[in-house]
Amino acid sequence: PIYSPDSSRYDNGMKYRRCGRSGILLPEISLGLWHNFGDVNTFANSQAMAHHAFDKGITHFDLANNYGPSYGSAEETFGMIMKKSFMPYRDELFISTKAGHDMWPGPYGEWGSRKYLMTSLNQSLRRMNLDYVDIFYSHRYDPDTPLEETLQTLVDIVRQGKALYVGISKYPKAAAEFAYRYLAERDVHCLLYQGRYNIFNREPEEEGILQQAKENGTGFIAFSPLAQGLLTNRYLNGIPDDSRIAKGGFLKKEALTDETLKKIKALNEVATQRGQTLAEMALAWLLKDDMVTSVIIGASSVAQLDDNLQSIKNTKFTAEELEKINQIDSL
Ligand code: NDP
Repeated sequence: PIYSPDSSRYDNGMKYRRCGRSGILLPEISLGLWHNFGDVNTFANSQAMAHHAFDKGITHFDLANNYGPSYGSAEETFGMIMKKSFMPYRDELFISTKAGHDMWPGPYGEWGSRKYLMTSLNQSLRRMNLDYVDIFYSHRYDPDTPLEETLQTLVDIVRQGKALYVGISKYPKAAAEFAYRYLAERDVHCLLYQGRYNIFNREPEEEGILQQAKENGTGFIAFSPLAQGLLTNRYLNGIPDDSRIAKGGFLKKEALTDETLKKIKALNEVATQRGQTLAEMALAWLLKDDMVTSVIIGASSVAQLDDNLQSIKNTKFTAEELEKINQIDSL
């Protein structure tokens, strides 16, 4: 059947936030394709999640060259979805990709060289059936490549029209400062900083990355907002067979210590008192003020996606709730 999106997709409760000093609004919830969209996953489920997301007003899809597994396959899956259903809506979508991590063998398949970034983006565009991406990121700071080389490549990518905007991910604060200035001096605004941020990982707040982005007019978009699933009800009663830990990926069994499980259970209590699931509360916590533009969630089912979408209905916290969450986190 030919996909036809929900005609009330912009009246389904999604809220949009301005991304720093820019013309772009992003949905409070964005969908990441790191897991569950590879060639190891069923296309039907990946497609169902993408369709459902768009039907609910999620306009931003976050990808990277090596998402899968296998490398490149999440972009291929997305490319198929583009071709089969999303192409008529291309201009309603805000699509990202990145290069920086391991992608192909040899010296030119990772890090921050011009050679790698340019050729990787060309490959990504082909896989996704796109002429351009909305935002292209330097996926990680490369301590060995001159930062000027990486950043000039971002500038040139914009000039070539292969990306409308650029961003940086996981850059240390000093490198981010350099990047914001270098890009701005060339009239290319850095639209987004993408960093890991959740109740268990407060680095962007503690290191001043959030404040720095704000001062530079750059939006902040949070990845792994659920700590890869730890900040949900997923592991409350053991490790389910179909979970990320059981499947053996980046989330290791060792991450689920007795200490962490204790915290998860205590946080789950706070969530229940708020009338939210733990996942909903964890996302709402990130959206409680204007420091975060959007959260990029991962999901392995439409049901999880739906749960996560509920979070935006209540992003207000009392001082007592915030204090309680901090206490639990520092247990
Ligand atoms: P999350 O922290 O949102 O974790 C997603 C996982 O949590 C899901 O796969 C699922 O696990 C579980 N989950 C999600 N919703 C629920 C729910 N409502 N109830 C129960 N369990 C739930 O994010 P990710 O770690 O997946 O990262 C999100 C995105 O961020 C990525 O897709 C990518 O786009 C981006 N990212 C960027 C990085 C960077 O370096 N810039 C690094 C990492 C991610 P399960 O599979 O077990 O069901």
